[in-house]
Amino acid sequence: MNSSATMTRSNEPEDVEVHNRSEHPGLARRSAGWIEVIAGSMFSGKSEELIRRLRRAKIARQKVQVFKPEIDKRFSQDHIVSHSEMKHESANVRTAADVRANIQPDTEVVGIDEAQFFDNELIQVVNELAELGMRVIVAGLDQDYTGKPWEPMPQLLAVAEYITKTHAICVKCSQPANYSQRIFESEERVAVGATGMYEARCRQCFVPHADAPTIHPD
Ligand SMILES: [Zn+2]
Repeated sequence: MNSSATMTRSNEPEDVEVHNRSEHPGLARRSAGWIEVIAGSMFSGKSEELIRRLRRAKIARQKVQVFKPEIDKRFSQDHIVSHSEMKHESANVRTAADVRANIQPDTEVVGIDEAQFFDNELIQVVNELAELGMRVIVAGLDQDYTGKPWEPMPQLLAVAEYITKTHAICVKCSQPANYSQRIFESEERVAVGATGMYEARCRQCFVPHADAPTIHPD
């Protein structure tokens, strides 16, 4: 009973957001910020969860800025987009230093999507922003297609106050899926894509190299 209450608290830090600054503008910057990380495989709803939190912040009239790495050009240039087609405007930046350079002083909430495509300076940048009193929400793939932890996500998970691990559903066996299975031949670590290039797999069904796509008899 206690454990489930604790669980809800750590997964749902939003319960503090409304009371943070928008209702008490005089307290702005007096309270410390924090880092939230949303980590998981492809098709696990990371971007959707990020967008949901950003929308709630905006409803609370907090000033929100969102960044994504320029490498991720799928769907939209100036939006982050979930596979379920939820959207949120965002700025394309090339490096973590660009995130720092583009932050406006009155920003209260910073969203960062596809964090695995950023350089390791992102760890320093998100720490700085949190220390300035900002709520920083970072979403990203925690493992590459071979199952290796994908920097800077492991370090971000270590420094975050709140962590949410999202799961997809294994296309082979319907268990919770923690891996992004590559289903096309390529040795590149970065091969941006979605449906038709990757599928969600569980630990038992995942193989750390390209595999044939799962075919479901209809
Ligand atoms: Zn499976």
